[in-house]
Amino acid sequence: RIVYVNGAYLPEEEATVSVFDRGFLMADGVYEVTSVLGGKLVDFDGHAARLARSLAELDMVQPISHEALLAAHRELVARNGIEEGLVYLQITRGNPGDRDFAFPDPETTTGTVVMFTQNKPGLADSPAAKVGMKVISIPDLRWRRRDIKTVQLLYPSMGKMAAKAEGADDAWFVEDGKVTEGTSNNAYIVKNGRIITRELSQDILHGITRAAVLRFAAEAQMEVEERSFTIDEAKEADEAFVTSATAFVMPVVEIDGAKIGAGTPGRVAARLREIYLEESLKAAI
Ligand code: PMP
Repeated sequence: RIVYVNGAYLPEEEATVSVFDRGFLMADGVYEVTSVLGGKLVDFDGHAARLARSLAELDMVQPISHEALLAAHRELVARNGIEEGLVYLQITRGNPGDRDFAFPDPETTTGTVVMFTQNKPGLADSPAAKVGMKVISIPDLRWRRRDIKTVQLLYPSMGKMAAKAEGADDAWFVEDGKVTEGTSNNAYIVKNGRIITRELSQDILHGITRAAVLRFAAEAQMEVEERSFTIDEAKEADEAFVTSATAFVMPVVEIDGAKIGAGTPGRVAARLREIYLEESLKAAI
């Protein structure tokens, strides 16, 4: 696999980053994941815009232009022959030369930019989408700026492992009795035909897929309500699902062992997945 490091395209074995990089020492960095369908990038502009926002919120200077970012994404997709899969992009605060809690001067330190692809044939026609996911609920113990897409992913990783240990696929985070989001996706329920998902705030990541799905839902005259919901309400819902750049729209059929609806993927989720894939493929660049 060919990967990108600070402007260079290298075989993955030859790509290196300093041991003093703040991304490595302090999880001081942000990332984006853009899916690839039909060899093209899905919602690249949305991901690039969120990247710029994440960097600005952390007082980091964006070391690569929007145009160069797009060119590098395309170059990696081409060099690695990706038809279906993803491009991972990470920008860390870089290497100030030694470990220090204080940030280095953003004018003199350049961030580290890393990109790589993951080949995932069958991503769109996923068998998991036909079966649906089982989730468990766990307390949301992450920091309170979840709107910034940082590489601090230890707690979500532990959540995923906790889910696996219980024979489930993923975890939903709960704070004050309300669902915030999944370990790596936004959470939704459907009740009496109405799609309910938590409103945007610093409590959750502002999903690029979420924005697209809510737009498509409105265009299809589906009812959408942006508000938080309790985990108990979720267990009583007719349907549940999650969205993310690589899961697209993924049905949830069980929460903490309780079957959602008939315990099979719901019709609203299935329809949204279909619309999302169709429209995304059309708009991919
Ligand atoms: N919430 C969290 C915590 C995530 O990690 C992700 C995906 N990275 C999402 C939501 C979904 O965001 P997107 O649709 O932009 O992939």
